[in-house]
Amino acid sequence: MSEGPVRWQTATVIDIVVRTPRIKSFFLSLEHPFEFQAGQHVDIRLTAPDGYQAMRSYSIASAPEHGTSIELAVERLDDGEVSMFMHDVIVPGDDIEVRGPLGGHFIWSVTDGGPLLLLGGGSGVVPLVSMVRHLKAADLAGSTVPVLLLLSARTWDEALFRDELQDFNKEMNGFTFVLNLTREASVRGQDFGRRIDEAMVADVVKRLPGPPVHVFVCGSNAFVNAAADGALAAGIPADLIKTERYGG
Ligand SMILES: Cc1cc2nc3c(=O)[nH]c(=O)nc-3n(C[C@H](O)[C@H](O)[C@H](O)COP(=O)(O)OP(=O)(O)OC[C@H]3O[C@@H](n4cnc5c(N)ncnc54)[C@H](O)[C@@H]3O)c2cc1C
Repeated sequence: MSEGPVRWQTATVIDIVVRTPRIKSFFLSLEHPFEFQAGQHVDIRLTAPDGYQAMRSYSIASAPEHGTSIELAVERLDDGEVSMFMHDVIVPGDDIEVRGPLGGHFIWSVTDGGPLLLLGGGSGVVPLVSMVRHLKAADLAGSTVPVLLLLSARTWDEALFRDELQDFNKEMNGFTFVLNLTREASVRGQDFGRRIDEAMVADVVKRLPGPPVHVFVCGSNAFVNAAADGALAAGIPADLIKTERYGG
């Protein structure tokens, strides 16, 4: 594993997996593998033949325990310069430039403890899934921390990592997965079917065995504002709430 300053390196796309109609996972093999913490992100840089460069940030979806490759899950925006290129042009075997790991505030480790509340909107669930996958690795090693993840997606089919999170819900003591659908009725009894609001956040907070001591909120600006307001209204102190905004 490399140490020292974060620098650009070449990564090879070793696999691409269609996750939802608008989100693909890109598995990158790093020339210089690095250690990272759940919640961190990387920058990717694309260079056109004329030298024009575009750079964007993408959260790491893999658990820190995963190994030498990393998974990024990228949502295709219809007018999105980099996300369209990733979806429509990049194929396995291609090289891209990567810099990371980056981000020091939006990170969680099982040693930080819980209860932990995770609120993710759309592709904003990516760094939270890294945390849950990390929890799963710790769970296998015998550590249990109460964690609840609320994922808000437009539809059942657009709920990123839905099946894996449902499986974790069955397999892991102390992990609860709640799905909110904004453009469809909810499918499962424990879920919601509306836009996130204060009552929804208050409801899921009560499903934890005690007040959350760490809260992570990630997604579009609108989602982060609504979810963070809900957490504050539920009585969670502001300094326990960490947010990551994807834009939009
Ligand atoms: C720390 C961090 C981590 C991120 N992790 C991820 C990730 O894991 N997966 C992921 O898909 N994205 C992630 N993003 C967002 C990503 O960096 C890009 O902003 C996104 O892919 C759009 O880039 P683009 O070049 O395709 O679109 P652009 O050409 O930059 O933008 C096209 C249009 O889309 C709007 N827009 C930009 N971002 C969004 C958005 N998130 N939602 C809706 N509209 C938007 C812009 O205002 C513009 O009108 C992350 C952002 C940050 C800051």
